[in-house]
Parts: sequence; C-alpha cells; structure tokens
Amino acid sequence: MPKPFVGTLVDVEKVSHDVIVPTFKVPHDFSFEAGQFVVVRFNNGTETKPRSYSILNPPFKKGIIQSCIKLIDGGFASEVLKKIRNGDEFPMMGPLGGFRFDKESSHASHWFICTGAGITPLYSMIYQYIGEFPSKQFTLLFGTKTKRDLIFYKEFQQLEKENQNFRFLVTLTREEWDGLHGRVQEHLPQDASNTTFYICGLKEMVLGTKDALEKKGVDPKHIRFERFT
Ligand SMILES: Cc1cc2nc3c(=O)[nH]c(=O)nc-3n(C[C@H](O)[C@H](O)[C@H](O)COP(=O)(O)OP(=O)(O)OC[C@H]3O[C@@H](n4cnc5c(N)ncnc54)[C@H](O)[C@@H]3O)c2cc1C
Repeated sequence: MPKPFVGTLVDVEKVSHDVIVPTFKVPHDFSFEAGQFVVVRFNNGTETKPRSYSILNPPFKKGIIQSCIKLIDGGFASEVLKKIRNGDEFPMMGPLGGFRFDKESSHASHWFICTGAGITPLYSMIYQYIGEFPSKQFTLLFGTKTKRDLIFYKEFQQLEKENQNFRFLVTLTREEWDGLHGRVQEHLPQDASNTTFYICGLKEMVLGTKDALEKKGVDPKHIRFERFT
C-alpha cells in the first residue's frame, strides 16, 4: 500500500552533464519492489507540484531512495532539483506502479530496453535479480544520443565482466563510435522467443519498441513497460 512519508536529501551525484542521482534517507520500514516509483512534491517557493520518479536502488538497499533524474531546463521539478541541498526534506508517496520483474517467467532470457533516464527502474531490477536468477540471461540495451549522455557506462561494463549471465549493449543515435548506432528498435534480438521484455523511457520510444517486438511475434503479455511521458 502506498503511504505518505518524508525523504531527506543526503547526497546528490551528477552522473552526466544533465542527469543527477539524488539519494534520500527514508523511514527504514519503507519497502518497495524493483521497478516501482514514488511521487515527490516539489515546492519552488510559490507553488507545489507532484512529480513521479522511479526508484534506482534495488530494494535490498534499505532506508534510502535514489532516483536518476534528467534535468530539463525550465521544468518545474528540474529547476527545484538544480538547487537542492543536503538536509532538504521532500514529502513523498509510495511505492506505486505495477512495472515489476516477472519472477515467475519460464523464459531463459530477460531483455531490458531503455533510453536516457529510463534506465532507472531497470537498474533496480537488474541489481535486485541478477544474482537470484543466475541461470537466466539478462541483456540491457541502452540507447542515448552521444557519448556525453552515457550514464552508468563503466559500472555496467564492470557488471558484465563479473556476471556471465549479463550482457550490456549501448547504441548511440547522434554520434559515430565503435559501438552500436541507431535507435534501440534496430537492435532487438533476432529471435525474440523465450524472452521477457522490459521497456522504459519516453512515450515514442516505448510505443515504438513495443510495436517492433509485437511485429516480431512477441506476445504482448511478455512485454512490460513504464512510460515517463
Ligand atoms: C511513472 C513515472 C516515473 C518517472 N520516473 C522518472 C525518472 O526516474 N527519471 C526522470 O528523469 N523522469 C522520470 N519521470 C518523469 C518525471 O515525472 C517528470 O515528468 C520529469 O522529471 C519532468 O518534470 P519537470 O517538472 O522538471 O518538467 P515539466 O515542467 O513537467 O515539463 C517540462 C517539459 O519537458 C518535457 N519532458 C518531460 N520529461 C522529459 C524528458 N525526459 N526529456 C525531454 N523532455 C521532457 C515535458 O513534456 C514538458 O514539455 C517519470 C514519470 C513517470 C510517469
């Protein structure tokens, strides 16, 4: 059941030129499932508005909520977030949402597909479940514009080295490099059977990827998704 509570900012890390990872201390009994989100109320001095943010940390890291937030110039919450300081308190409500890992899936493979800050709930799922399901293949397909927009790049490369069942694919749309190029939809698996899919990002990317998977014959019940817009 979602509950109201207060999150106190204890850290903010800048993970790219326009993405931050804030860490909030929350009541120790706050529990959630990987993939869920919270609603945070932001006050800019004259107005208060709620915004939803997926939880980045896996649930086994208790007592905190982290998110991974793209700062949008002129955005209401983004402008507040640009000025936050340790000790600031934010009214929150959660956990919310049904975007979760399918623990009952009989499939051999799980594909996590995202663009930009859409990586947030997928990060939580991957870290929560990769160790629990060592016989399943986890693939993260992350799309972004340029190398400058990469987030958690070294971290996921390290995770790939340490876990035989994890594969990390990155595709850039607006810069040539020695990796993949183009939209995530262009790099879906050839054989999409025996796989459960998790998609997160902005509306166009989520709907486009879902559509591409369905055209490959994937049953919609094996496609889980969260839309940020
Ligand atoms: C369930 C859920 C989970 C979410 N989780 C996250 C998360 O983990 N991280 C995260 O960064 N955002 C997340 N969002 C989006 C978030 O709630 C806000 O919409 C976003 O941060 C913009 O808020 P704002 O008040 O700064 O901008 P607003 O003042 O609301 O909007 C400013 C303008 O920016 C546009 N816009 C909104 N998001 C983007 C974007 N990503 N890129 C480009 N333009 C955009 C809006 O359409 C609008 O035109 C989530 C949304 C939902 C519904």
